[in-house]
Amino acid sequence: MRLFDPHIHMTSRTTDDYQAMYDAGIRAIVEPAFWLGQPRTHVGSFEDYFLSLLGWERFRSAQFGIHHLCTIGLNPKEANNPRLADGVMELLPRYLEKDGVVAVGEIGFDDMSPIEEKYMFAQIELAKQAGLPILIHTPHRDKKRGTLRTLDVVRESQIPEHLVLVDHNNEETLPHVLDTGCWAGHSIYPETKMDERRMTVLVQKFGAERIIINSAADWGVSDPLKVPKTVNTMREAGIPEEQIKRIAWENPRDFFVQSGRIDVKTLERDVVIDQRQLHEDNSVLRGQQPLVQGK
Ligand SMILES: [Zn+2]
Repeated sequence: MRLFDPHIHMTSRTTDDYQAMYDAGIRAIVEPAFWLGQPRTHVGSFEDYFLSLLGWERFRSAQFGIHHLCTIGLNPKEANNPRLADGVMELLPRYLEKDGVVAVGEIGFDDMSPIEEKYMFAQIELAKQAGLPILIHTPHRDKKRGTLRTLDVVRESQIPEHLVLVDHNNEETLPHVLDTGCWAGHSIYPETKMDERRMTVLVQKFGAERIIINSAADWGVSDPLKVPKTVNTMREAGIPEEQIKRIAWENPRDFFVQSGRIDVKTLERDVVIDQRQLHEDNSVLRGQQPLVQGK
């Protein structure tokens, strides 16, 4: 089964991770723009980060046989620095036009500050202008209140709900998201928030419609193989294959296809791996024999 991890920060991961993901069946990923663990001090750092998501990281991913798409946005945490935030907002329209950008995100609440809300509304407007879906991060603290307020913002902004993916859900928030027309993402973490077993129970209870799973792997304690691992747990629990396929491939595909930037035929085909290729004269190899596969 082809697997899709629609929320993973590969910039923070290694080539070993790419290889393990490919071996476990992952054939497509979405890398949302987020924060880097410590606050950036220049708008230019955001611009170079966006360029690396569109350039070097997409190249690295293809070198390991995985389609790479990304979302571009001002993350909630750094929205709290207005001097920087306004500069990033000026950059965004230009980057939202680029090939391979399939949503505005991740946007949303971190601390639930008024300033975060202001930039959430502003970025939803940018998404509407660009005709893109949005990827919404929900806060880890006070998750229920944050998610409910997020759904209010979605309603008030009048963006069509089928263009909205509300991420990082749990047992408490999922029913509220499914009551709307929004899609519901779940980040499967090694210890906290949501795990394979709890996710399986949610699917048994709510089915597969508009349900999405991801690893949200980044520079913290996380696991880039959580999508395949959750697939295995669902299979062992007797969830029908067609539901598993819907969750682990078709739903993320169908959500991000709404961007108009994905050619489904290309996405459904394996990436041709040609490790003889270079990106701006740089290779992922360190003297190894280049792999060429699928030509
Ligand atoms: Zn993230």
